[in-house]
Amino acid sequence: MQTNSAAFLESVDHNFRHAMSFLELPEGLAERIIQCNSTYTVRFGVRLRGRMYSFVGWRSVHSEHWEPVKGGIRYASNADAEEVEALAALMTLKCSLVDVPFGGSKGALKIDPREWTPQELERITRRFTQELNKRGLIGPGVNVPAPDIGTGEREMAWMVDEYRRANPTEVINSRACVTGKPLSKGGIAGRTEATGRGVQFAIQSFLRDTRTPGLNGRRDLTGASVTVQGFGNVGYHAAKLLSEDDGARVTVVVERDGYVANPEGLSIEALKQHQTRTGSILGFEGATSFAGDMSGMEQSCDVLIPAAMENAIHAENAECIKAHLVVEAANGPVYFEADKMLRSRGVTILPDLYVNAGGVVVSYFEWVKNLTHIPFGLRERRRRERRNHTIATALERMTGKEFPADMRDEFLEGGAEIDLVRSGLEDVMRSTWTPCRPDGTATGTR
Ligand code: NAD
Repeated sequence: MQTNSAAFLESVDHNFRHAMSFLELPEGLAERIIQCNSTYTVRFGVRLRGRMYSFVGWRSVHSEHWEPVKGGIRYASNADAEEVEALAALMTLKCSLVDVPFGGSKGALKIDPREWTPQELERITRRFTQELNKRGLIGPGVNVPAPDIGTGEREMAWMVDEYRRANPTEVINSRACVTGKPLSKGGIAGRTEATGRGVQFAIQSFLRDTRTPGLNGRRDLTGASVTVQGFGNVGYHAAKLLSEDDGARVTVVVERDGYVANPEGLSIEALKQHQTRTGSILGFEGATSFAGDMSGMEQSCDVLIPAAMENAIHAENAECIKAHLVVEAANGPVYFEADKMLRSRGVTILPDLYVNAGGVVVSYFEWVKNLTHIPFGLRERRRRERRNHTIATALERMTGKEFPADMRDEFLEGGAEIDLVRSGLEDVMRSTWTPCRPDGTATGTR
């Protein structure tokens, strides 16, 4: 029987070949583009709890048509080489789509992070980094990892520290060897939320475009019901932003141990606090809990956002999906057969290549910041503040009225790093959606 990761790789290949069938490429070129250039398997031992433990990990380099290559590192007990190769291929295609100058790569360690203490995880991560470094699979100009499932700022901080120790003569640019770092280690404001915010911009772009069906003709999310599968980094930020900024009702959140539901809309921040405190979304007092029930995604909703794992929607459950719009926040959450089944029923699917590109876009900003050694906005901020202050004063003099107090601070603000990062991300997501009109002329800003 085919494994989940083999099915994932097959799905990525299938979608790619389908897309290529619309182009007239020279013979053999599509095949060359989709093949993964190399996959390195590493096995290493770490002495923990009084004995030796063996670990296995992978780093795939899908394409080096741009360097460095870029892609997250996943910690998951079901990781394997095929999954990593599928994810690396998606990275190549994603970077091309949003015009970010990286090739595609991806990595994984076969480990359940919940089984190890932070101290143990640090030793394992440092050892993994040493192995990647020995093989030239980490470095600012060659290969730049980032967080993915089971990893975050903390793991990236350990990796950059280990890389710096191993390469003491290259210290000047060494912080650019990974992205998704904490701010204190050379990270950038807005990276943690970036993928979820990109999901929000993707949905907004879809709704704004009158060539699309929208949500049954509706062009905004006010009051729309949303189901989110996976309440980790991507799912949580997407749910929070869509409910707080766009007026959506997140009615169902699905996790690996069941789901919670509230038809009035869940308080996302309170649910996150509950999950952090108890280790589960179940038992949250602002919702009904369905422990062990894996049918959360099948509940009625306008928008379904799978933000957990690949192949979450497959041939067996596709018929039960009732959403009008499926937004692929995870990588490869809709298996290609399920994709066909949903589309034949008129369901719109926004693809992962676009929807979750926010992470790599802001990673690119972080990498540029590390190499230029200048925080975003540093040289401009005070000049913009002074200019805005002059405009506000002139308006007050001309009209004889005071500038509205509730708008004053925002207007005078010169552009902090977080504002510039959000604005840059929004620009990339919007201009990627509509790069050209049907007659081929540009409509985007880039
Ligand atoms: P994460 O580890 O922070 O969160 C994943 C969540 O999904 C966890 O809460 C986990 O318990 C839950 N989950 C796992 N299996 C599940 C299941 N069967 N049903 C329901 N919930 C389940 O990971 P993340 O960084 O949020 O990544 C999620 C997805 O988004 C992955 O496909 C990843 O490759 C993709 N992605 C992440 C980023 C990023 O910046 N982190 C960028 C692009 C794409």
